[in-house]
Amino acid sequence: MSRYQGTVGEPRVIPCPSWCVYQDPSDEACHSTERRVPATRYHRDRYGDDDWADAYFTTYATFSRLGPRHHLVHLGLGEATGFELTADEARQLAEALILAAADLEAATGGEQA
Ligand SMILES: [Zn+2]
Repeated sequence: MSRYQGTVGEPRVIPCPSWCVYQDPSDEACHSTERRVPATRYHRDRYGDDDWADAYFTTYATFSRLGPRHHLVHLGLGEATGFELTADEARQLAEALILAAADLEAATGGEQA
């Protein structure tokens, strides 16, 4: 018998979304693939730690079996504690970053320092 069917009186097992990297419905939460972006302007000496030499921004989605209030998009800088955003906040932040990048490119002709 599939573990998704359960029996009468058992709580229904919530299957993992297709993007869950673990595919274990007994986990409290599901996580998407982590996506990293280089953070070349991050000043590692701010923390005095050479491990920051290869700094990066990181993001992934979390689907929680505790309910919608616990669903989130994570935004972090390396291994440091990051931010938890709703899907709408994450989308607004992405759009704001694209607009800011376009403003800068309009002023510089796309030239990178
Ligand atoms: Zn999962």
